[in-house]
Amino acid sequence: MSAIVLDGKALSRQIEAGLVARVAAIKSKSNGVSPILATILVGDDPASHTYVRMKGNACARVGMESRRIVLPQSTTTEQLIAEIDQLNADPRVHGILLQHPVPSQIDERACFNRIAVEKDVDGVTVLGFGRMAMGEFAYGSATPAGIMRLLKHYSIPLEGKHAVVVGRGPILGKPAAMMLLNANATITICHSKTQGLADIVRLADIVVGAVGRPQFIKGAWIKSGAVVVDAGFHPNAGSVGDIELPAVIDRCSAYTPVPGGVGPMTIATLIEQTVDAAEKR
Ligand code: NAP
Repeated sequence: MSAIVLDGKALSRQIEAGLVARVAAIKSKSNGVSPILATILVGDDPASHTYVRMKGNACARVGMESRRIVLPQSTTTEQLIAEIDQLNADPRVHGILLQHPVPSQIDERACFNRIAVEKDVDGVTVLGFGRMAMGEFAYGSATPAGIMRLLKHYSIPLEGKHAVVVGRGPILGKPAAMMLLNANATITICHSKTQGLADIVRLADIVVGAVGRPQFIKGAWIKSGAVVVDAGFHPNAGSVGDIELPAVIDRCSAYTPVPGGVGPMTIATLIEQTVDAAEKR
């Protein structure tokens, strides 16, 4: 079977190309003032530094400004909340990204929830999640929203399909499951206490890997013809994802490559939702 490659890199380029004109239109209507995505990076995690830089670069590619706030590893919850409050109150800022994870002394959930919902372009607040789950408008959590966009672009049928999401993290697995449910798939969500994981994955028409462990989901667990979506990325383990892709590429109907699948879609979705927020303003 020749599988469809769900090429997130190519689609993200297309999305960015469309955003250039939208950003230019916003600027021309506001005397050259650019939309701004504010990024907050707390601590020394090298991967987070890379991700924030990539998001800033994507803003620049579409002609939009980013404002980078870097806080020390010792930052407290109160200090981070004070930064978020300033950005919430700043009319020049249209979107706020708080890079996950933050150092362990910080109450990450409280900080995510502090982001004003109209600036929550990364889709991390409980209010945004609740609205999305109920089918109301909210900016989707960027990674799962990017996955949904990719599946739609390649016309992957979702209605009535059995999607098994492995991982229930608050910004990936859980919202991915809700978005697939809203698209009328039948959902099973697996996590660290799930028993018989391999047998559950074998039932899946669509498998979403959102675990955070290199090649944890084995190719042999995945049935022939399934759609394979791998949200993991492990640069220190050979740049593989959460799924053992080489063992299933020949048997699946479609798959996201790692790298070049879900990752670029996350960034494109974040930038697009920032432009949406600026247009709304
Ligand atoms: P997370 O919040 O830590 O969630 C990990 C999930 O995996 C948890 O729900 C955990 O279960 C589950 N899990 C852990 N061990 C398991 C096991 N043995 N069997 C089944 N489930 C298990 O992580 P996350 O933020 O969702 O990220 C997950 C992965 O996605 C990471 O590789 C991350 O790098 C990647 N990611 C990629 C992007 C992107 O832009 N491409 C964005 C975000 C994340 P419990 O709930 O029971 O603990």
